[in-house]
Amino acid sequence: MIVQKFGGTSVEDAPALERLAKIVARSAGQRPLVVVSAMGDTTDVLLEALGRAVAGDGAAARETLEKLERDTKRVLDEFFGREATSVCGEIAGNFEELRRMAAAVAVLKSVPAASRDHFLAHGERISAAVAARAMRLRGLPTVAVDSRRVVITDDHFGRALPDEAEIEKRAGEQLVPLTARGEIPVLGGFLGSTPRGETTTLGRGGSDWSAALLGAATGAAVVEIWTDVGGMMTADPRVVPGARVIDTISFEEASELAYFGARVLHPLTLAPAIEKGIPVRIRNSRDPDSPGTEIRRDAPSGPSAVRSIASKCGIATVDIVTSRMLMATGFLKTLFEVFARHETSVDMITTSEVSVSVTVDELSRLDSVRRELEQLADVEVSEGRAIVCLVGQDLKFKAGVAGRIFRAVEGINILMISQGASRRNVSFVVDEKDAPGAVRALHREFFR
Ligand code: ASP
Ligand code: MG
Repeated sequence: MIVQKFGGTSVEDAPALERLAKIVARSAGQRPLVVVSAMGDTTDVLLEALGRAVAGDGAAARETLEKLERDTKRVLDEFFGREATSVCGEIAGNFEELRRMAAAVAVLKSVPAASRDHFLAHGERISAAVAARAMRLRGLPTVAVDSRRVVITDDHFGRALPDEAEIEKRAGEQLVPLTARGEIPVLGGFLGSTPRGETTTLGRGGSDWSAALLGAATGAAVVEIWTDVGGMMTADPRVVPGARVIDTISFEEASELAYFGARVLHPLTLAPAIEKGIPVRIRNSRDPDSPGTEIRRDAPSGPSAVRSIASKCGIATVDIVTSRMLMATGFLKTLFEVFARHETSVDMITTSEVSVSVTVDELSRLDSVRRELEQLADVEVSEGRAIVCLVGQDLKFKAGVAGRIFRAVEGINILMISQGASRRNVSFVVDEKDAPGAVRALHREFFR
């Protein structure tokens, strides 16, 4: 079996549905199970409608939902032609319920977390119904399955935790027999249900997690994440025009890179599959012949010591200097409690005997952090900085890598350096304006 997950842009319109049907048809011999996100930006639109309803503007909420329904129908008309009316009929109940819920919320001017999940989950339920019909029209034996019968979670609405044992049991009972018969189950990602039957969601972007959970539960050979990019890259192609798609990357390396651009996906959501040794492949639905990037539990390093180079702008450094640190115990604890109290997370840290430097990327509470730190030490905050990061499985074993890194960026002023505990990551801080040049120079050095 394999799991094929299609993100929002891979189901957004008639040509996308056509591509999806072709991709699944090619894999028909591998017993696919299909997971879909809501079509296009449906989830954002549903949130917008809900926001208007909460503000008490029932008419605006209704209008937003009606526009969403019209836009969806337009896609269906284009793809299904004569069958469109019947497909619209299949999802009319979803839109009807959305309208009724929005009207109730507009009266109450508030929405309980459970209702919010139920509301948002309609996006994926609609998408699953549409995708199943679309593939059936192209001759594939699909069966739409309500994810709430399989993906059982706790009742932490908005960010529910899946019950992996229960999901495995239910997948064994309800999904595996379908694929064994040659049928193709189609499920909405993102949503699940408590054991009592209340709809839950796994958090924004949660469909990848659904796919990984279902892959793990069914013991799939691979989980394919079909999206609109070619895979993970050796660098941001907007910065380095010669950047290439990475063919294989380890889960740890991908997780290190996640901080620098969640654009492709958040690797942690893939953990259920990776932990079972199931590889996850990111593939481009507009370029189905290219292999994309495979994320595996272990991935041998390639010819280069470095797998990818990333950078992140909009960083501030906080330099904290005090002689009180000298021979003191508990100073770091006091320091980090300040950050914790202001809910400001610290990303990179370096220390010396009398100083600590950290980076933060959430600047909104930095002033309060500074004021409190100034009670303890001399503090200097500098904004407009960037982290440049190199990730590679074996960075720790390769002699001379540090030399190559810092020779490559010789002309650039480096403000902080850190090697992560995993030894798979070397990061340094530069002025924002120097970041693109640093990334290009490093890419030349390691990927030329
Ligand atoms: N549709 C949901 C979202 O936009 C889940 C997903 O796309 O993975 O967050
Ligand atoms: Mg989405």
